[in-house]
Amino acid sequence: MEQKTITLETLLRMDEEFPHELALSDCVGDSYLYANNAIYRKIRNLVLDLGFTPSSQISEMWLDYNAFSLLTLTDILESRVLPYCSNKGTLQRMARRSPQWRPGALLVRSFRHNYLLHESAHCIAYDHLQKNGFESSTWRSRETYVLLLLLCEAYANTMERLASIHALLPMDKLLFSLNSWVNPGDSSLQFLSPAVRALGWSEAFSVCMITFFLLNIHSGDLPQSASRALMLSFCGSEEVTDARSAVVNMLVTDCSVSGLSKTFRSETTPAFFQYIGCAEHFSKYTKMTFEPNVLESLGVRSAIAAMAELTDGNDFECKRERSDELYCQL
Ligand SMILES: [Zn+2]
Repeated sequence: MEQKTITLETLLRMDEEFPHELALSDCVGDSYLYANNAIYRKIRNLVLDLGFTPSSQISEMWLDYNAFSLLTLTDILESRVLPYCSNKGTLQRMARRSPQWRPGALLVRSFRHNYLLHESAHCIAYDHLQKNGFESSTWRSRETYVLLLLLCEAYANTMERLASIHALLPMDKLLFSLNSWVNPGDSSLQFLSPAVRALGWSEAFSVCMITFFLLNIHSGDLPQSASRALMLSFCGSEEVTDARSAVVNMLVTDCSVSGLSKTFRSETTPAFFQYIGCAEHFSKYTKMTFEPNVLESLGVRSAIAAMAELTDGNDFECKRERSDELYCQL
């Protein structure tokens, strides 16, 4: 079958095939991902249940997010409003002018993305961890607050990475790219899905979350020996076979290499904590050695277990009919 790149008209029609009251009909890809990506749907359901509201209404916070999203996180957490850009109208107007236009990769590069999956995951972790050992009344110091925010970031990174496993088809990948920091076109994703199957959800989730947590603290590479010992200690009491430890190591490497770029980490995390007045508290973590007993006493291990349980992915199977159109090249 000859494959053609998809037209704008077809793209919009596919996106509109899956309307749902909890999905955002004015956000390109949101309805499609809500219907077809089990993790995307789970995160939306959880964040709405917690009382957070996605909004494309222009407000000061919306403008701040639009101009400098990385520094708006605490405003989102406090206001419980998730800003996003109402971007479907733009494509609809363009489709009226040129319905057979084939945007291809230009859409991923030049069109305004939304990041509701990532920001929602931040909110869920912030709320849930406060009910599980990180409640604000026991923030003994700003250090605990910094730790909470680091765990939230690690959870957001983890859920985006794991949700990308469900972006199997070209249409899934395109619409996921438009709603995520993760590009599911990257070849390492072919490895992610079998790795999660081999380790099981809870363990794969834990390995990803602890890796992202450590990566956000250490701007450089994780020492191979330290990360290996740490990851294996996180894999519970189950006997660790060579094959299993190889999968864990590959997952750690995948998160390190593909999940978060070194430049992004070294520029954003310290700058963010400096912005919210917690530079010193953050720098204390950067100097710590994260042996398993340290992680235990800080509550990191139990926090990760709580988040793994909340977002149990064992039933995140992709079940749907697939039409030929979904197989078009983009
Ligand atoms: Zn984030």
